[in-house]
Amino acid sequence: MKKRNFAVIGHPIGHTMSPFIHKRLFELAHENGDYTVLDISPDELPVKIHTLNELAGYNITIPNKQAIIPYLDRLDRKAALYGSVNTVKNGEVQEGFTTDPDGFLKALEYANIAFSGNICIIGCGGAARTFLYEAALAGCHVTLAARDMNKANSLVQEAVGKIPLADIKTSLISELDGEFDLLANATPVGMYPNIDNMPVSEKALSRCKNVFDAVYNPLETVLIRKAKANGSNAVGGMSMLVWQAVVAHEIWDGSVYNIHDIDQLIEDSSTKLKKIF
Ligand code: NAP
Repeated sequence: MKKRNFAVIGHPIGHTMSPFIHKRLFELAHENGDYTVLDISPDELPVKIHTLNELAGYNITIPNKQAIIPYLDRLDRKAALYGSVNTVKNGEVQEGFTTDPDGFLKALEYANIAFSGNICIIGCGGAARTFLYEAALAGCHVTLAARDMNKANSLVQEAVGKIPLADIKTSLISELDGEFDLLANATPVGMYPNIDNMPVSEKALSRCKNVFDAVYNPLETVLIRKAKANGSNAVGGMSMLVWQAVVAHEIWDGSVYNIHDIDQLIEDSSTKLKKIF
């Protein structure tokens, strides 16, 4: 089988888990794929796009997720909804996808966390947008909690503009009150090296049945550790990182994976990350 080339592009792009995860996914699917890292800034895209078009496919990370769009022939439904692309499949046409939303949903599904009822999302950046849109599309009652109400209100306005039936209210994180079926942290609070920090108070956390933390370094944040100690079902961000990569392979090759292999990859990615940091 002829080797096909794939890559991740970003700028700056230092330590990334992508080659480790994607190479394993090619192996598991018995696909002959190579996967490299390319440092490309948005300014360089006009000259580098020819190189990218010669690849079988590629992933895109910050700051190119919007900048790549004018160079593609079409976007799939979710990439168009989000106005963001993290995966490109090159064939007769160049098509852009975003796999973060499905990666997030699969991470919840395999952690046995139902995505329904009252959901609290913390933050209003890129990950929060993913969680917010998906919660609104799933018909959840959403509370978006942030430290800056202007940013929260503008994200809600954007979401309601795209998903008119969205049921979303806002709160300052410090004033968070209520019982939640799921609390999803979409801030970097608790991330290495500030690993003792938690995005919400212990009191607020104690009223959450399930907890998802987008942070994957460390693997078990204080938020996840305390949620588990409370008896809540809690899962960290490494599962989403791996699942969004799995979705890319479904797009590129239609690959189907055994859940035990993916569980092992999540664990091995965690071990690999510990060696980097
Ligand atoms: P982002 O676009 O920069 O947004 C970060 C958000 O966190 C902003 O709303 C920011 O608020 C808020 N924030 C930062 N520090 C805070 C603090 N001390 N208290 C309260 N809010 C705070 O980042 P992102 O791309 O959404 O990523 C957020 C986290 O998710 C990162 O740790 C990232 O690594 C992780 N992530 C994981 C995955 C995965 O696959 N597991 C995928 C995407 C992202 P202001 O706007 O007020 O500054």
